[in-house]
This record gives sequence, structure tokens and C-alpha cells, in this order.
Amino acid sequence: MKRLLLIGAGHAHAQVLRDLCTRASSDLEVTLVSPASLAPYSGMVPGWMAGHYDWDECCIDAEQLCRAAGARFVRGLASAIDADARTVQLADGARLPYDLLSLDIGSTALPLAGAGTPLVAMRPLERLEAHWERLRHQVQALPAGARLRVVMVGAGAAGIEALLAVRHQLAAWAPAVGLDCVLATSGAGLLPALAARAARLVQRHLRAHDIEVVRGFEAAEVDAMGVRGCDGRRLDADVVLWATGAAPHAWPGAAGLALDEAGFIRVDATLRSVSHPDIFAAGDCAGLPAPVPKAGVFAVRMGPVLAHNLHAALHELPLAPYRPQRRNLFLLGTGARHAIAAWGPFAWQGKWVWRWKERIDRRFLARYNGGPRPA
Ligand SMILES: Cc1cc2nc3c(=O)[nH]c(=O)nc-3n(C[C@H](O)[C@H](O)[C@H](O)COP(=O)(O)OP(=O)(O)OC[C@H]3O[C@@H](n4cnc5c(N)ncnc54)[C@H](O)[C@@H]3O)c2cc1C
Repeated sequence: MKRLLLIGAGHAHAQVLRDLCTRASSDLEVTLVSPASLAPYSGMVPGWMAGHYDWDECCIDAEQLCRAAGARFVRGLASAIDADARTVQLADGARLPYDLLSLDIGSTALPLAGAGTPLVAMRPLERLEAHWERLRHQVQALPAGARLRVVMVGAGAAGIEALLAVRHQLAAWAPAVGLDCVLATSGAGLLPALAARAARLVQRHLRAHDIEVVRGFEAAEVDAMGVRGCDGRRLDADVVLWATGAAPHAWPGAAGLALDEAGFIRVDATLRSVSHPDIFAAGDCAGLPAPVPKAGVFAVRMGPVLAHNLHAALHELPLAPYRPQRRNLFLLGTGARHAIAAWGPFAWQGKWVWRWKERIDRRFLARYNGGPRPA
């Protein structure tokens, strides 16, 4: 009996479990560790922020997927690896043994100096639900005619989409409250990797929603008044949203796993740790030889390769390389059931793009929440 231990119900592990629904084996014991049975799917989380979906509508039900795959579901947070003893320790002190270990634990937010002003970090996604209730109470307690200053630090696609979604939801929660929204970016331009037409559409939406863009702003500290920049500039805020990019979880490195320059688990093209052949990593937490963006669309594509390679490693078969897609469909919701799409140099926008995005997202979730595939 071999023991495969999966830590984190990320996008790639969802595919591994789905694969196990059809490839279950009597000599393999599979365990998934996740802090919650519902694992949020990033593609739909901004739609939840905007008030279009309930939380469970935009999550993979990892516990039920485990049942369908014949895997054991353990609710918990991994906190340490003992690579010599081949065990993973959970935050509650429990130890789980493994023959093969796979990590798909996503990323976390870059650390902050102060935290006086209500601060809503966009990563990890699973903590957002708790922040949201607090934000709703704060906003609904404001008197009519009050103004609320909202600053989003970080102007990648996640920051922009989340700010547009939050603005939409705040206006619905407290229609009599005035909103002053600021998007702060350390860069000079917005979404530099996007084709010019799509970037223009995004900027037009930010202007149409009176969102002020502050460029060249490197946040140094969040205090009771808002955000202070490294250059001394201040952005006053009642609510600070934080989407400054992906940072690695610290505990895998503490186990002696080789890391890349940014601190993500260094893997080879087959997603296998370069220092520990019995450990694999996929999604945001993996540092590939040719780095890919920390985005769900890449984590999803790693899923089938990871599923194949875990099976191959257990049976001493050849491993397959992960080849990142060169181009991917960019979809960004703008708040009011409207979205922008881009594919290479082409870009579109409209309510129909939102419906298209929604169809793609719902179909994706149905793959994992619909139980086992027909054989
Ligand atoms: C607001 C926002 C919107 C985004 N929108 C998009 C988008 O539209 N398209 C896109 O491609 N990308 C998007 N992203 C990026 C995307 O969220 C991530 O790149 C993606 O989720 C990474 O997938 P993953 O499989 O690596 O990990 P995740 O999906 O983050 O899953 C990791 C899982 O591991 C669990 N976990 C973490 N630590 C532990 C631990 N110690 N023990 C056990 N379990 C643990 C977590 O609970 C989580 O369920 C967005 C990000 C944000 C913040």
C-alpha cells in the first residue's frame, strides 16, 4: 500500500482527484489536507465580491470530490514537513505519513508593515469570506451622505477586477454613501502584458467608474489613516484592499526544500522538487525552470500533468513535462455583469462577454462538483 498525500485543494489537486475518480487503485491510499471543504475558484471570486454569486457557488467542494475519488479528506493546515521521516505536520500537531507528497497550496499576500486601517488582503482567497462580513457591517453603519475612501494597492488584473467588483457591491450595500476609489500601482502603466486595445478598455472602465489611478506608488506602510508610500506620499483611506501579488508560504522552505529566488518551491519541468524526488508542487506555489504567471489558468493546466506524474512516480514510469500555454484567454469582470475579454491582440467587451465568462466558469466548476466522470 502506497500513501499519496495531497496538501491544499488548489486547482491542480482538483484535477488529480478527478483523475482518481476513474483511476482508483486498491494499493493506493490518498489523503487530501485542506483547511475547508469548500475551495474557492478565483475565476468566480470577483463575481462573488460584486454580489452576483453565493460563496458556495464559486467553490470546488473538495470534501465531496474526495469522497467520489475514494480519498480521505482531512480538515487542517499543514505547517511543517519532515522530509527524512516522510511526514507532514498539521497545525493541530497531527502527523501524516507519505510515500509521495504533492503541494498545491497557492500563494499568500506580500507582508505588510502596519495594519491600522481595515485591510482586506485578496490572498489567500479563502480568508476573504470573513473579511467581507466585517466590510459589510462597516459600510452599512455609515450615515446617508457619508463618504467612504477605498484604496486598492496593487493594479494587476486581480486588483483591478476586485476593485471594480467591490465598488459595485459597496454601492449596492450603501447607496446613500459616496465612494472615492483609488487604484495604486507601483508601475507606470496598467496591465503592461495586455494588448493595447484591451488595456484601453480597462482604463476606460476605471475612468467611467471615477476610479483614480495613482502610479509609481510603492506602499511602505498601512496605518490608521490609510497607506504611506516609500516616497512619503499618503493615500487616505477608510478601507485598504491589498492585491500586491503572490508571495510564497514560508513553511515548505523551512523543511529544506530547494526554492527559487522568490521563495517558491523549485521544481523541474515535470513539477517534481529538484531537491526532494518524492515531493511534487503545482500551481502558484511551484517555481518552474521557466517561470509562469501566478494565475489560476496556469495552475489548471498543470493539473493533468501533475495527475499523470504522480501516478507515474508511484509506478516508476516516465514522467511528462508541463508545457505552459503560450497564450490564454483574458477575462475580467467589470462589476455589473459586464466583462472585458482579450485574446492576443483582440479585445471585446459587453454583457455578452460576462455571460460567456460565466458559462466557462460554471462549466469548469461543474467538472469537479458534478461527481465522478462517466467511465
Ligand atoms: C481577487 C483575485 C482574482 C483572481 N482572478 C483570477 C482569474 O480570473 N484568472 C486566473 O487565472 N487567476 C486569477 N487569480 C489568481 C489565482 O487565484 C491563483 O493564481 C490560483 O488560485 C492559484 O491556484 P493554485 O492551485 O496554485 O492555488 P489555490 O487555488 O490558491 O489553492 C490553494 C489551496 O491550498 C490551501 N492551502 C493553503 N495553505 C495550506 C496549508 N498550509 N495546508 C493545507 N492547505 C492549504 C488553500 O486553502 C487553497 O484552497 C486571482 C487572484 C485573486 C487574488
